[in-house]
Amino acid sequence: MSTAKLHTANLGFPRIGPRRELKFALESFWSGKLAEEELLQVAKHLRLQNWTIQKQRGIDFIPTNDSPLYDQVLDALVLLGATPERFGEGVVTLPRLFEMARSSAHGSQQHTAMEMTKWFDTNYHYLVPEWSEGLKFVPDTSKLLAEFGEAREVNAGVRPVLLGPISLLLLGKVVDVDSGFDPLTLLPRMLTAYVQVLKDLQSAGADWVQIDEPCLVTDLSEIHKAAYRTAYEKLAGVDVRLMLTTYFDELGDNLDLAFSLPVAGVHVDLVRGKGQLDAVLDAVRAGQTLSLGVVDGRNIWLADLDAASVMIAKAQERIGADRLLIAPSCSLLHVPYDAQDETALPGELQEWLSFAAQKLDEIAWLAGGKEKFAADFAENRRRHDRRKVAESSVNTQVRDALAQLVATDFARPSAYPERARKQRNHLRLPLLPTTTIGSFPQTPEVRKQRAAWRKGTLQTAEYERFVEEETAACIRRQERIGLDVLVHGEFERNDMVEYFGEQLAGFAFTRNGWVQSYGSRCVKPPVIYGDVARPNAMTVRWSSYAQSLTGKPVKGMLTGPVTILQWSFVRDDVPERDVAWQLALALREELLDLEAAGIRVIQLDEPALREGLPLRRVARPEYLDWAVKAFRIATAKVADETQVHTHMCYSEFAEILPAIVALDADVLSIESARSRMELLEDFRKHGYPNEIGPGVYDIHTPRVPNEEEITALLQSALESIGAERLWVNPDCGLKTRGWDEVESALRNMCEAARTVRASVTSDSVA
Ligand code: GLN
Ligand code: ZN
Repeated sequence: MSTAKLHTANLGFPRIGPRRELKFALESFWSGKLAEEELLQVAKHLRLQNWTIQKQRGIDFIPTNDSPLYDQVLDALVLLGATPERFGEGVVTLPRLFEMARSSAHGSQQHTAMEMTKWFDTNYHYLVPEWSEGLKFVPDTSKLLAEFGEAREVNAGVRPVLLGPISLLLLGKVVDVDSGFDPLTLLPRMLTAYVQVLKDLQSAGADWVQIDEPCLVTDLSEIHKAAYRTAYEKLAGVDVRLMLTTYFDELGDNLDLAFSLPVAGVHVDLVRGKGQLDAVLDAVRAGQTLSLGVVDGRNIWLADLDAASVMIAKAQERIGADRLLIAPSCSLLHVPYDAQDETALPGELQEWLSFAAQKLDEIAWLAGGKEKFAADFAENRRRHDRRKVAESSVNTQVRDALAQLVATDFARPSAYPERARKQRNHLRLPLLPTTTIGSFPQTPEVRKQRAAWRKGTLQTAEYERFVEEETAACIRRQERIGLDVLVHGEFERNDMVEYFGEQLAGFAFTRNGWVQSYGSRCVKPPVIYGDVARPNAMTVRWSSYAQSLTGKPVKGMLTGPVTILQWSFVRDDVPERDVAWQLALALREELLDLEAAGIRVIQLDEPALREGLPLRRVARPEYLDWAVKAFRIATAKVADETQVHTHMCYSEFAEILPAIVALDADVLSIESARSRMELLEDFRKHGYPNEIGPGVYDIHTPRVPNEEEITALLQSALESIGAERLWVNPDCGLKTRGWDEVESALRNMCEAARTVRASVTSDSVA
């Protein structure tokens, strides 16, 4: 085999800075403490630092235009001059950029910010383009070209990144949905702008341009496939080489389409799309460059260099070294900066990790080959072998429990109607019972005390006394408000996933493993690195304390297995299904302990159930099957009398409704205040057999709804859901709100419930 060094490319790098410098600079700028010039200096410094690291670690093609101040989709709109019309025309100044991006922008704000939504199946959120008939495209390439110039001073091989036209189009929404406006009619204008951008890049000396088309891994209509052909025919008119970049899954039935487009190269994801290599090698056209995404850009584990080398060798044999690039599967935006910082992790975990900086090394080693990097390959093998047998990752008891699951582990002892009857007798709740979703305001004081306790300046006993006082006050308030099913308030929790992760075996927490969620917002997901087990009860202390203070039922509050998995970095050495089921078994023990402690209502939140949905329709049934089963494993063993609730907070339910029904929770509370109860219509059409609490007010704003509007919502809910199955609750947890608004809103909610309850009872008497 030849030992020629292959070329390397990167597709994007984390931009928040190794110590979240950009986050802090942005927030200082927003609060008026930093001048615009200073913010731009920080951003520039970070870019230079990133380019330098990539060069030093052996990357030949370094991305530029991958470091937006806020969001890359917003940057694409600014570049094309196609920002939403309602923010005005002309040059986009920084204040205007942030006005578009931030809903909480400065007081005198005239426009609501652009909508934000998840970037494919990641936890990154982008700003949704707004398409309207009159939208103009007036490209402004000044920032793009300036950064290209800066990057070229660092490295010769610079490859600007653009979001491709069809993905951009598909990621946007039509402003006036009733107008019947077809965004595809914007395509000619948009392509003219893209051509201008490419020409400017070419004049500035760009040889290659990375053009991202992640939508090529999704289900496309014939119309959109045709749009791809039209678009790339047009772009082929400019004399730059396009690297058509696909990621997050295999190309599937779009594979021939992708390789038939007139582009100089195609990048494929060989981590998520491991199985597509043969088909890719068959489809690649003579002369086309193939970029092999062999290092996982979506997770934090060290690459399997040997396995990746096998794929690379195969490609090299078929098409030769000259036409290959070694790359990460997708942009490294989704992983933290440097695992070198993580010296405080348990056992050998640090050795199993690969963050952005390590991934660059892996790419360089793979391109250089096993002979040249023999020691690095050997070390990589040793770490993989250790990971397989390390005590911290294997728990035979848990593995056995998983292997021994039988039918009764997946279903409650009785069907819902029988359970509902027993629960009615046991709980004695009124019709249209009122409750909340779990958390009450996390005041600055609550946060301050927790921070002090974590730092060690507040003793555990004192901290717990503080949390007890908050909990007791919260119970008294709920009783005064007149709620029927109370909650303890979640004052002891920092975060609904972290709180559980910290108490479960198999989890670790990094010191600096931040990834961008949106804008200046970063998250530090827990790392699930070993078999999950529950050494001790996690929530019983607080739930039973709260229950001891009141005669009303207190609802136990847990985060569901799928949500915990979805909001963590998950081990990749066992199937995700197994991780979810291990979590479910741990939660099952917690439910049983809560039940034994006298908690008669238990909620298992699954707000992330929908997020895990695979991009491709064909893959969805399998995911939904194991995800639903995870919830059922967790809840199967409690008695019929124990009422199981679940909560979800997003509005696009239609697609996963059968799965939601299959969870077989006794009560489901869902967000719906914003979609005007439309989703109840879905539930009525498809039939939702159990109890349901459609959120009657939007907790995302400080506005206090009045009694009349809640009454009206409940009355319309009654048209789709029988009174004996309808619950009354806000649409999500209240932790971000203040006490005054919460008390007023809940009082109005309870008053509305009483009014509607009375009318229902008198109707049934009449
Ligand atoms: N129980 C959680 C809370 O009330 C649920 C949060 C969520 O749905 N994201 O905060
Ligand atoms: Zn919610």
